[in-house]
Amino acid sequence: YNIATLKRANEQHAVNNIKNIIVVSSGKGGVGKSSTAVNLALALQREGANVGLLDADIYGPSIPTMLATQNEHPMSPDNQHMTPIMAYGLATNSIGYLVDPDNAMVWRGPMASKALLQILQDTLWPALDYLVIDMPPGTGDIQLTLAQSIPVTGSIIVTTPQDIALIDAKKGIVMFNKVNIPTIGIVENMSYHICENCGHHEAIFGEGGAKQLAEQYQTKLLGQIPLHKSLRQDLDSGKPTVVSQADSEFATMYCQLADRV
Ligand code: ADP
Ligand code: MG
Repeated sequence: YNIATLKRANEQHAVNNIKNIIVVSSGKGGVGKSSTAVNLALALQREGANVGLLDADIYGPSIPTMLATQNEHPMSPDNQHMTPIMAYGLATNSIGYLVDPDNAMVWRGPMASKALLQILQDTLWPALDYLVIDMPPGTGDIQLTLAQSIPVTGSIIVTTPQDIALIDAKKGIVMFNKVNIPTIGIVENMSYHICENCGHHEAIFGEGGAKQLAEQYQTKLLGQIPLHKSLRQDLDSGKPTVVSQADSEFATMYCQLADRV
């Protein structure tokens, strides 16, 4: 794409060439937001959409690892803007590309929010149908600043079936409702375990919680993704399942999830 054209588009409004901004959020860490964000972005792209992925988890960026782009750094054509890093056809940016991964971020809320907005607004995004934003866990400053500063189309809440995760997922829905961001739906991740040897299914974190939550808040259960070793292995090796095992049942699940968005 042409940098001058992108710059012009971005200068009018940082996000005005993005049709839909979807935040992938959760109250709790480690429930699979990043895994969901990556595979959802790739599934939307598979349907023919132009998709970007912003890693907003500035305290624990994991998108660069999941896309095997951890050694890449965005270039700046004018010392003000950044060109996104392209991975599997996705336009991506992450604080992980900009700072030393061994240095933990110790920013306070307001600084963290500012850094995030800057990455979002200073990236020369190409024209996108969807920008998927992988949010940091929680319902604090960063989430609110983002919600109030950019036109977010809707949020997707990721939870596990565990009570403790569901309680936090509920807080997420309530927070987004307060700032008038519709909840597109809920993804139940690690919904059940599939044994990689025998194929046996087991509900290790409980059952039915996300469905109930969706009913309670009149939103959709977008999908139930099992806990399976290969999903983790694919992400750890920077080859997300939707592209590396494109014909697998897991890829199909993510595509069905994308259909419901
Ligand atoms: P979060 O972004 O919410 O902190 P991650 O997406 O980084 O969570 O997931 C945490 C860990 O669990 C990662 O190592 C990821 O590969 C693994 N993981 C997430 N979802 C699944 C799944 N459905 N099956 C197997 N491993 C998973
Ligand atoms: Mg994450």
